[in-house]
Amino acid sequence: MHLFQKHFCAIAMSMWAVSAACAAPLVEPTLHIKPEAGGNGRVALTLDACGGRTDTRILSALVENKIPATIFVTGIWLKRNAAAVEIMRAHPDLFELENHGGRHVPAVDTPQKIYGIRAAGSPAAVLAEVESGAAALAGTGGPAPKWFRGATAEYSPSAIAMIRKLGFKIAGFSINGDGGSLLGAKETARRIAAAKDGDVIIAHINQPTHAAGEGVVQGLLALKDKGLTFVRLDEADGVGNNGTTD
Ligand SMILES: [Zn+2]
Repeated sequence: MHLFQKHFCAIAMSMWAVSAACAAPLVEPTLHIKPEAGGNGRVALTLDACGGRTDTRILSALVENKIPATIFVTGIWLKRNAAAVEIMRAHPDLFELENHGGRHVPAVDTPQKIYGIRAAGSPAAVLAEVESGAAALAGTGGPAPKWFRGATAEYSPSAIAMIRKLGFKIAGFSINGDGGSLLGAKETARRIAAAKDGDVIIAHINQPTHAAGEGVVQGLLALKDKGLTFVRLDEADGVGNNGTTD
């Protein structure tokens, strides 16, 4: 995606027409939490619920092992997964629900596709995605969301500035745990188990039929065995790049 855009942009520039496609390239911001002084280290687990269903293998493991997590939910997912939402709301000590948008469209304000998903395509559509996600969450009776993560976790820089103005911090990550839920169980477990003090892990909790979910559970249990502490984004100082948190 990045390469294509840069290439296209170069062609457009050489033809003396600076088109809208030459807007700044998309960014995939990182996020870290402040490392722990002493101790075995802290990591933040973030799980996206883009659409679809609930991976109860993961949800049950989190509850049974008392592993806190920040769950990024869309309006679409909230509508279809009332039972899972109820479990999460029943464990406010474990689950923080944050904003993954209303309809799971990338927070990119120019028309294009990212991993095959059509971007919001305009500033107004980005605004609608962020605000409808927050409104859907408010409808479940929990605290107002403070963090936003767009579909595909890629953004146009101008969209980042806009979302920050709305009052949200933007949640990047430092470890891609499950490769969009498409990795096998073994590789997913290996990636997550490799997390170190200060890392922010991203994985998915909405693909119950994928092998990756099994790997998410294995990786988390390995981290727990090593004595790492799990924190949520609302209790850690998250530091991101590309103007996502400052
Ligand atoms: Zn998503």
